[in-house]
Amino acid sequence: MVSLQLDGRTVVVTGAGQGQGAAEARMLVEAGARVIATDLAADMPAGLAVVSSTSPGALVYRQLNVSDASGWSDLAQWIRSQGWQVDGLVNNAGITQRSRLLDASVADLQNVYEVNVAGVLLGIQTLAPLMASSSAIVNVGSVAGLTAHYPEAYTASKWALRGLSQVAAMELGPRGIRVNSVHPGFIETPMTASAKAEFRQATMAETPLGRTGSVEEVAGVVLFLLSPLSSFVTGAEIPVDGGQSGHGGAKSVSDAMR
Ligand code: NAP
Repeated sequence: MVSLQLDGRTVVVTGAGQGQGAAEARMLVEAGARVIATDLAADMPAGLAVVSSTSPGALVYRQLNVSDASGWSDLAQWIRSQGWQVDGLVNNAGITQRSRLLDASVADLQNVYEVNVAGVLLGIQTLAPLMASSSAIVNVGSVAGLTAHYPEAYTASKWALRGLSQVAAMELGPRGIRVNSVHPGFIETPMTASAKAEFRQATMAETPLGRTGSVEEVAGVVLFLLSPLSSFVTGAEIPVDGGQSGHGGAKSVSDAMR
């Protein structure tokens, strides 16, 4: 059957308190999933409270710092205590860090890696044992991991995440667990709200679709990658960037030749 429905499936989303993670959690509930939304806050963030009680799925909120191994163990233990297995994991939590090559410190690199890389590794290591065949993991990278971008620590972390994703796809494939990554371009979220106007303009100039993206446009691809419609897709890296990473720098040349 052709269906994006996730009825009866349990999906963990990290960094789900706002931005893309909240949109992913909301859309997965709409698709019928039981979503375990997690974030740093102790209480359920307001953006998640708007999930309608008439949605086909359900949402529960748990506090989780993805860098904290014991927090992941507690989450796994709690899921087991509910009698659930995990069918999907969206490693969405991430932080940005905008220092440039000659200014980036080792501490900058470590701070970003702790969340953007180690946080994903811990999630996979902790929850894969709770996953049966036909489960799926989606890691949220960035166009920064497909290009030189410009901030050193963030860019390096998103390239590292691609390596982690590919190893995980290879290692977990025999167990029927798929691992894919999505690579958003400029998406309107609280993270990008603090970006400089120059960055926004320059990014749009490099984006063939000529605009920024919405959180729902990322969530839709995440939903597809968790659904049975993508059952033979693993190890894929899908840009959700309006074409920003696809032209390899040719856009300014093309624009100049019009
Ligand atoms: P966002 O608006 O900043 O939301 C990220 C969420 O993750 C926040 O709720 C944040 O909590 C939470 N978080 C931060 N550190 C965490 C940790 N250690 N453990 C658990 N949760 C943590 O970001 P976003 O724009 O939605 O980005 C989501 C993902 O997409 C990130 O991986 C980001 O790198 C990636 N991305 C975003 C864009 C974009 O244009 N927005 C582009 C490419 C890639 P607090 O608010 O409490 O810190």
